[in-house]
Amino acid sequence: MRYRMYGRTGVQVSALGFGAMRLPTTEDGTCDYEKAIPLLRRGLDLGINYIDSAWGYIKGTSEVAVGKAIKPYPREKLVISTKIPIRGIHAKEWWERLETCLERLDTDYIDVLHMHDLHWDVFQEFGLGENGCLKAAQEAQARGLVRFLAFSSHDTPENVVKLIETGAFQGVTLQYNFLDRHMEKVIHLAHERGMGTVVMGPVAGGRLAMWSPQQLREMLPPSVRSAPDLAIRWVLANPDVSVALSGMNTMEMIEENVASASRPEPLTEDEKQAVQTLFERLQELANLYCTGCGYCMPCPNGVDIPGNFMLMNYYRVYGMKQYAKEQYANLEREGKASLVGVSIEGKAASACVQCGQCEPKCPQNIPIIEQLEEVARVLGEG
Ligand code: SF4
Ligand code: SF4
Repeated sequence: MRYRMYGRTGVQVSALGFGAMRLPTTEDGTCDYEKAIPLLRRGLDLGINYIDSAWGYIKGTSEVAVGKAIKPYPREKLVISTKIPIRGIHAKEWWERLETCLERLDTDYIDVLHMHDLHWDVFQEFGLGENGCLKAAQEAQARGLVRFLAFSSHDTPENVVKLIETGAFQGVTLQYNFLDRHMEKVIHLAHERGMGTVVMGPVAGGRLAMWSPQQLREMLPPSVRSAPDLAIRWVLANPDVSVALSGMNTMEMIEENVASASRPEPLTEDEKQAVQTLFERLQELANLYCTGCGYCMPCPNGVDIPGNFMLMNYYRVYGMKQYAKEQYANLEREGKASLVGVSIEGKAASACVQCGQCEPKCPQNIPIIEQLEEVARVLGEG
């Protein structure tokens, strides 16, 4: 494992972070500790020291799993991150949430405490002021309950810059991968300001894993083992990044990702060039890039918005035109489709009645209605 500095905090973090949002679950949707704990421990044994959870992950049981998993390890060697959403709450509720996090994590302190999915307007309304969450967080920091304050965000780059410029945070977690570079300059700025920079979604929600070995061989240098390998190495080739987070739920995935993050040089110059060429091929994706976050859902008319966009990405990005059309036809006919292990359920793009409810909820500002029209036109044609 390679280690990097978490900004100017003096703390060393593993280049690969363990995202604890996709741990195995039981039938009731809570964490399956018997399966989750060995996974987390395998990651720790392979040198991961940054674990990222959140107050809301897996109905609160992600934090419990992390707390149980870290027990045998020296606490001071670990960098435990969690996240509390502040929308709609003030200092009193914030303290209650912090206490819950500490209890679940079964620890005396949290290393990196994020304001979860922070937006500039939410920060102004609920972060600032005498009764605001920031003052409470700073007090928790002064009392040694929290080492560093951070935020995660899907807000616009301009607003994320404003949050950085407040100087209130020592770290930031943002989405960044080679299909979605819109936060690149913001990450650079945060790094320059001495903040720890953590990247979520380095493998684009797992969808980059869909390339076949054949396609990869055609597109990329032989040292690239798989799409996730490339994705993690690409993120870590950016020296502004402290940690690439990956939501891991199999031993194999952990071992492969650790290998990707353990290279002395994530990508050589030749490899970077090959990836650049690939970017150019993927440029057409830019207008239709959907992260699959699901914030636009549910659609009152039952359209599976991210599912339809995923099908379109297959058509446009991976060049799997026939396959994408067949799956779209299944969606229209049966309300179901599947894409190499991912199932899509809901209505096809053609069922959109253009009510407009989804668009304001999209953090990527995707013109959903217009893009769905295109999906229906392109994939629906004979
Ligand atoms: S605009 Fe279309 S996709 Fe969006 S919520 Fe309305 S019906 Fe659903
Ligand atoms: S359309 Fe926007 S809100 Fe909906 S899943 Fe895609 S990125 Fe998320």
